[in-house]
Amino acid sequence: MAILKVARLGHPVIRQTAVPLTVSEIQSPEIQLLLDNMIETMREYEGVGLAAPQIHVSKQIAVIEVNENPRYPNMPKVPLVILINPRISSRSKKLVEDWEGCLSIPDMRGVVPRNDSLVCEALDRTGKPLKLEADGFFARVIQHEWDHLQGNVYLDRMTHLKTLSHLSEFARYWANSHDHDES
Ligand code: ZN
Repeated sequence: MAILKVARLGHPVIRQTAVPLTVSEIQSPEIQLLLDNMIETMREYEGVGLAAPQIHVSKQIAVIEVNENPRYPNMPKVPLVILINPRISSRSKKLVEDWEGCLSIPDMRGVVPRNDSLVCEALDRTGKPLKLEADGFFARVIQHEWDHLQGNVYLDRMTHLKTLSHLSEFARYWANSHDHDES
């Protein structure tokens, strides 16, 4: 396995709409290796999610996992999930605001409104359909990763940019007011 280089905002791949995969593509050794490398890369950088465009691959793949993480001590845990060709089939009307960061936008945090709960349909790593209901932090991470697959980043979802902060200023002035994540 390998740790992959993360594309940063400004690289065109971050703004492209990612391409869906066929079941036979999903089952290919190349994509299976890519999935393992994405998981390893997400863990290496202590992300809670990673979308394929973030490692310069414009395909509809995202990985999500929230474990014990010293940088995010208060996060509810989410077991490893792989979402291929994900679709958000329903969203709650209720929006919640919380902090987000992004491995492709280093050293920044901002407050982003997201739907509080959703239903996501996708394919798993074997190509089988998967349907999951998520709320709270897990729903937030799914929306963040799904956005990446459409060429969007969390900055596009901020109501305004007044909370946008560098990490050290975030820690100094904001950290106790909200939880936060990076993906
Ligand atoms: Zn991100």
